[in-house]
Amino acid sequence: MTSYPYQAPESAALMARALAVTPGGVNSPVRAFRAVGGTPRFMASGHGPYVVDVDGRDYVDLVCSWGPLLLGHAHPAVVDAVQAAVSRGTSFGTPTQGEVELAEEIVDRVGPVEQVRLVSSGTEATMSAIRLARGFTGRTKVVKFAGCYHGHVDSLLAAAGSGVATLGLPDTPGVTGASAADTVVVPYNDLAAVTEAFRVHEGQVACVITEAAAGNMGVVPPAPGFNAGLAQLCRDNGALFVSDEVMTGFRVHRAGWFGLEGVRPDLMTFGKVMGGGFPAAAFGGRADVMARLAPVGPVYQAGTLSGNPVATAAGLATLRAADDDVYAWVDKAAGELSALAGDALTAAGVAHRVQHAGSMFSVFFGPDEVTDYDGARRQDTFRYTGFFHAMLERGVYLPPSAFESWFVSAAHDDAALERVADALPHAARAAAAAIPPESTA
Ligand SMILES: *Cc1c(COP(=O)(O)O)cnc(C)c1O
Repeated sequence: MTSYPYQAPESAALMARALAVTPGGVNSPVRAFRAVGGTPRFMASGHGPYVVDVDGRDYVDLVCSWGPLLLGHAHPAVVDAVQAAVSRGTSFGTPTQGEVELAEEIVDRVGPVEQVRLVSSGTEATMSAIRLARGFTGRTKVVKFAGCYHGHVDSLLAAAGSGVATLGLPDTPGVTGASAADTVVVPYNDLAAVTEAFRVHEGQVACVITEAAAGNMGVVPPAPGFNAGLAQLCRDNGALFVSDEVMTGFRVHRAGWFGLEGVRPDLMTFGKVMGGGFPAAAFGGRADVMARLAPVGPVYQAGTLSGNPVATAAGLATLRAADDDVYAWVDKAAGELSALAGDALTAAGVAHRVQHAGSMFSVFFGPDEVTDYDGARRQDTFRYTGFFHAMLERGVYLPPSAFESWFVSAAHDDAALERVADALPHAARAAAAAIPPESTA
């Protein structure tokens, strides 16, 4: 076993208790640190760019709750809105004004969204969007891309990114053959493969679903023309184009990836930033498609806590505070940090690629540009382990996996960025010194 240079006794004690009552000690797999080893840090609080663990150490947070915290931790406007909402009552099971305002904000920001339905997680959003696409087209097949993650929807777990990639799982037991058989998996950034899928499954494809820019196999942006090509192929073949903006939405631009690229999907999914750190997500798009949803149309979809007033207040406060200055700052901070990471790795002689999709970025440990999941998996993930722990030791919290995006917030001020800058050369040297697993066997 590798031993790490500093201990986290309170986290370790909580992990021991957690392991007794929860599988792997965690409620979402990547949190368990399986890919990087060591003790997962149990966080007790967060403020601005920092999280503080139960041992009292603070870290500059480059995970930001896996994307949602565009404004940083405990932003005053969000805290105030949530406190006010809680004191009015936590759930009514009726329509509320906040839901209308959040829906209006989304429709106002994102051109292709004429109507939107609120749900509680990104998983629910993509699950509902593909059900709607199937109901609308009367077709069964869904085309998805290897390495793209759309939540843990049965039919979308095939060759998925995020934790499925981190843990290197081939397939997930519990997903039936029938459900997997309706999913056609093709390589990301490969329009010829999509064309071929439409040919082989002529008249059967309900939709193509893609991450607007892939961020769950590490950051792999769409090649120029890729998303536009998908939209065109869908139009030509009577299928819907579903753009999953759960990660990119309201993060890379006020209108998400759509705002940067301008390719119009038929349906879009959102989550993360729009919930302001609470469980809120959404799917929306063309009014004629959304009109097929119950209670107007026959496609059923519902949720006891959908449009929850507290979650809605957090999301609305977040989006209202996310003005041009916020996006400009996050872009600048991401640009600086990614350049510093690249410089440090170059100075340490580590082959790497820093890849961007707007303000999302990640580092691949290998010499080649990564354009798809095969490329992402070819990287030297063992180098990330050393890199990750060297950063953690110096008070910087990175995603505990080489297959995840890094996120910054508008609260990442010069002091926070400086701490990251100071840590990077150490981490780059740790990556350079990392030993491939074969040679230790
Ligand atoms: C996080 C994510 C999801 C799933 O969202 P959950 O809220 O975790 O269910 C779906 N799609 C993409 C692109 C994501 O990044």
